[in-house]
Amino acid sequence: MASDLHMHTNCSDGALDPVDLVEYAAGRGVDLIAITDHDTMAGVPPAVAAGRSVGVHVVPGIELSIKVPHGSMHLLGYFEDPAPDPLAGLIAGFGEKRVERAREMVERLNGMGVDVDWDDVLAGAAGAPLGRPHIAEALMRAGHVSARKEAFDLYLGDGRPAYVGSDGLAVEEGVDLVRESGGAPVLAHPYTLGLDAAHLDPFVGRMARAGLVGIEVHRPEYTPDQHAAYAGLAAKYGLIPSGGSDFHRPSSPHHPGATGDPPLPEGTIDRLMAAVLG
Ligand code: AMP
Ligand code: FE
Ligand code: FE
Ligand code: ZN
Repeated sequence: MASDLHMHTNCSDGALDPVDLVEYAAGRGVDLIAITDHDTMAGVPPAVAAGRSVGVHVVPGIELSIKVPHGSMHLLGYFEDPAPDPLAGLIAGFGEKRVERAREMVERLNGMGVDVDWDDVLAGAAGAPLGRPHIAEALMRAGHVSARKEAFDLYLGDGRPAYVGSDGLAVEEGVDLVRESGGAPVLAHPYTLGLDAAHLDPFVGRMARAGLVGIEVHRPEYTPDQHAAYAGLAAKYGLIPSGGSDFHRPSSPHHPGATGDPPLPEGTIDRLMAAVLG
């Protein structure tokens, strides 16, 4: 059986609701998943309940946006508790910051003559923490772009004209928050930091000293070189090699349980939790 420690529901920017996601994963032969929505854990309780009825173990998780000077950084957290404090108490505030940031990106687009209706963005998100994917979808609905990727390439990608960086937690703050909440912090997709090898290495070292316990070494889109580089960093800094598919929707190329080659080792979640719970 396969496990997948990085999955999104429609509580953030995924297409499936938590119950459908669990059933979809089960249908693909995946028996352990972590729900890691952006800045929310709202999908965890319904997914845990659905998991009980279809025999999928559901790990409570989150994917936090971290403020970095270049690129973007996502920090995964894995928990035993579906509403771990103090993290759970801060989540509403993260949502408000995301609204402000999304509003700024929409204003930039409108200032560039690319008309996007704020109410349409809000309606499309249906209460989920607002993110660039929701703006991308509004751009598609308005006919400005024909694909999500085009919206990022032209407007929303890191460094593109309508991009606004996330005003989230600082690096050490994020790691501390996950650990204080009883969770295991893991660095997601290190390449989005946009650092070359000479700069990524000391950055990961700094995170390891701050209390990071894992790094995504197993993801379906990695090249063999990326896999080797991140495996090397994990070994060098004593981090547990983790990973997942980062599944968002059935039409995406990577299905649940697609965790790269070689795949995510069995027992990874237990090793991550043991690293913080002892
Ligand atoms: P945000 O949290 O608002 O910064 O949005 C981050 C999300 O946007 C990621 O999790 C991806 O789902 C999506 N994303 C980021 N960059 C791209 C890209 N170049 N193409 C398509 N989707 C992207
Ligand atoms: Fe996402
Ligand atoms: Fe991410
Ligand atoms: Zn993700």
